[in-house]
Amino acid sequence: MKTICLLGATGSIGTSTLDIIERHPEKYQLHSVSGHKNWQKMHEIIQRFQPKVVVMSDEQSALTLKEAMNDSTVEVLTGEDALIQIAKDPIADTVVAAIVGSAGLQSSYAAVCAGKRVLLANKESLVISGQLFMSAVKKYGATLLPVDSEHNAIFQSLPFDYQQGKSGQGVKKILLTASGGPFLKFSQQQLENVTPEQAVAHPNWSMGQKISVDSASLMNKGLELIEACWLFDLKVEDVQVVVHPQSIIHSMVSYADGSVIAQMGNPDMRTPIAYGLSYPERIESGVEPLDFFQINQLTFDQADESRFECLALAKQAFAQGGIMPAILNAANEEAVDAFLNNNIAFLDIAKVVKQTMSNIKNDEVVSIDQLMQVDVLARTEAINIIKGM
Ligand code: NAD
Ligand code: MG
Repeated sequence: MKTICLLGATGSIGTSTLDIIERHPEKYQLHSVSGHKNWQKMHEIIQRFQPKVVVMSDEQSALTLKEAMNDSTVEVLTGEDALIQIAKDPIADTVVAAIVGSAGLQSSYAAVCAGKRVLLANKESLVISGQLFMSAVKKYGATLLPVDSEHNAIFQSLPFDYQQGKSGQGVKKILLTASGGPFLKFSQQQLENVTPEQAVAHPNWSMGQKISVDSASLMNKGLELIEACWLFDLKVEDVQVVVHPQSIIHSMVSYADGSVIAQMGNPDMRTPIAYGLSYPERIESGVEPLDFFQINQLTFDQADESRFECLALAKQAFAQGGIMPAILNAANEEAVDAFLNNNIAFLDIAKVVKQTMSNIKNDEVVSIDQLMQVDVLARTEAINIIKGM
């Protein structure tokens, strides 16, 4: 029996994780959960799963939830400290880190430092603090299992020894697939006028709003490229982005002998989540197996960085190193938020990120606290740039 702490339970990944847990009551027990503002959804989760501890990071929502509940056996907490507390609580052996954005960094880092099995959906943690995060995984003996579908696919396609942290093994290249998002075929001119509604309508995956916009701008692929480099100890040149609009192949590993090993499946996050929960075994996830006779074609293309500048900016930030990826991430979070609120245009997202990166001087990374300060500073800078647009 595994005991689980689910951070970001009310979100898209959270919902998929709850679905798997519910299918295997003899294997998984939900001990603690977190949400932010959606107390109604949290109320339902409490009734369905009866967790022992609930964190609503938004204080007002925690109060409202408490009032709405007549069951007083559930402990309701609020604030960042409470998130960290449930992430490192010795009762839970497994932490699913599915909060969106830099808001998820401190709790996922705490889970790693407590030596947990960590199912990492929050890619922003690795983008912001990759070096510190991966050193902590080693130092505290945590088991880090990527939930991001591409990284989960790479993890499944690598040799077992590589997964244990030994490099070499004839791995030549990682082929990171990208659906290309809803605007793959749009011209520069068409991109100027796209709306938030169009951006969040992803052709293959149903996801939270922020990652949906990131997929549309290809910033998601940029963040994932950085994520892959940290997870698998790679250089940017070792990773090739391959646009594959059908999202059937979730990524591949190319070997010295000419073999290419791919992981395939229907695009449903329950597969990588189930794999992370049950690893090294496999369990039912509710995902239908692929029907190859229904697949018309699998196509592959290069990514166009001139139309999708965010991908190039992410590569640049990673090459610059230091605090630059944290600046990129914070600026992007603010820009996406402004776009979703109709305050800036879609193509302004890249402009805000680029300008923020050039306005703040790069520095060495020393601590998670410093990176959280950088996050605040870069957000302030990005907001100023947005106001001036
Ligand atoms: P979502 O928006 O659906 O859910 C986000 C969760 O984070 C919610 O539970 C919300 O309550 C919580 N949250 C939001 N702001 C918060 C704050 N300030 N403090 C604390 N908690 C907060 O997002 P999602 O699509 O589930 O994505 C979650 C993470 O997983 C992201 O990092 C995303 O990049 C990654 N991911 C998602 C998918 C997907 O298919 N949805 C795929 C790969 C990776
Ligand atoms: Mg992904």
